[in-house]
Amino acid sequence: MTYQNYSLKQLQAIDAAHHLHPFTDHKELRGIGSRMITRADGPFIYDSEGKEILDGMAGLWCVNIGYGRSELADAAHAQMKELPYYNNFFKCSTPTPTLLAKKIAELAPKNINQVFFGSSGSEANDTAVRLVRHYWALEGKPQKNRIISRQMAYHGSTIAGTSLGGMEGMHGQLGGAVPNIVHVMMPYAYELGLPGESDHDFGLRAAKAVEDAILEAGAENVAAFIGEPIQGAGGVKIPPASYWPEIQRICRKYDVLLMLDEVITGYGRTGEWFAAQSMGIEADTITTAKALTSGYQPLSALLVGDRIASTLVEKGGEFYHGYTYSGHPVACAVALKNLEIIEREGMVERVKNDTGPYFAEKLQARIAPHGLVGEVRTFGFLAAIEIVKDKKTRERFMEPGSAAVTIRDHAIANGMMLRATGDTMIMSPPLIWTRDTIDMACDRLLMALDLAEADLR
Ligand code: PLP
Repeated sequence: MTYQNYSLKQLQAIDAAHHLHPFTDHKELRGIGSRMITRADGPFIYDSEGKEILDGMAGLWCVNIGYGRSELADAAHAQMKELPYYNNFFKCSTPTPTLLAKKIAELAPKNINQVFFGSSGSEANDTAVRLVRHYWALEGKPQKNRIISRQMAYHGSTIAGTSLGGMEGMHGQLGGAVPNIVHVMMPYAYELGLPGESDHDFGLRAAKAVEDAILEAGAENVAAFIGEPIQGAGGVKIPPASYWPEIQRICRKYDVLLMLDEVITGYGRTGEWFAAQSMGIEADTITTAKALTSGYQPLSALLVGDRIASTLVEKGGEFYHGYTYSGHPVACAVALKNLEIIEREGMVERVKNDTGPYFAEKLQARIAPHGLVGEVRTFGFLAAIEIVKDKKTRERFMEPGSAAVTIRDHAIANGMMLRATGDTMIMSPPLIWTRDTIDMACDRLLMALDLAEADLR
């Protein structure tokens, strides 16, 4: 029996009875019923009632090549028939993760030549924490194990991912975090910049918070700093250009490793293959997932820099770590095809030179002037829209987050999917968006803003 044999109401009732969803208030959900997305094509998703919605989030920041790519289905099908599964433990390997690791190393910054696979961004970050702490232990400095992260960071939902992340709500439900992780201020000039402070100076001040945390702990106790090049789930917080080079300088000065979480930014979203390249920095680890397969299969890759890799190989013996699905052959076959498509269609260059700048220009020209919008930020194919009651004073609406949710609901009703995080609307479109798609997105978003304004004022 397929789902088409059920009515929407029946599916919603089954969903409410049996399916626990991620990041969902289930009591609230039972009242309204889930929106059932049943198919997708190109830049559009369709719900069970046939409604077409332009997907401004690329699923969950992942469907970079858009939906309906049968080449990926063919790659999965062929791999499943030939070798649906074998593991990479105990000195075995299979061809697709081997070739995928080589391909990723070719695309990555030049100090990266090794890759460890998992199935999710959270797993990759868990691996990164274990690896970084293991590295310092192998170097004879086991006490150098503190990791500095940032408020409002999102690094996943496992216990280590939640502990690394800086989301207070998540910490409140953790019942005990992984020890020795501290959080410092985020580079969010719109709310944390001082009157009269330039963006450049704010970036240096935000980076100094990392230096202060190193000095407070003692550099001999600090393993690494971890950060998303652009904080995604925390509200697309784009740091000033001065921030990342200063972070790199500080990490080098105190011999602290630099861990980048590129689960969102990896594979083209910033107009380079990796945001490390956009920011002009070199990291010791880079966590990636999502767009590695454009979300068609669950797969993550932890990119490991030469410094850590050579210690692991030369001094490490066996690293007691791995997942049943590390280097899953089907997921890796899909990833290889996905990267081939991104390359073949020149998507990264297009975001850098054409659609990315057009996206920025149109959002600034058409969305930023709206009465509910305090600021529009963009970088490549990432955008944040700050929602305010008063443009000049930056005063927010009374109930935090409520205005953004109102806008989001109008947007979905008007055929445009985007996300609300606190008082910020965020967008992360597929890299296939053309200038016409961007115009369509602006039309639908403007309509949602107008309707929300009528509700809110
Ligand atoms: N890191 C970042 C920056 C993310 O945005 C996410 C998910 O959105 C994760 C890690 C966790 O990835 P996953 O949900 O695949 O575990």
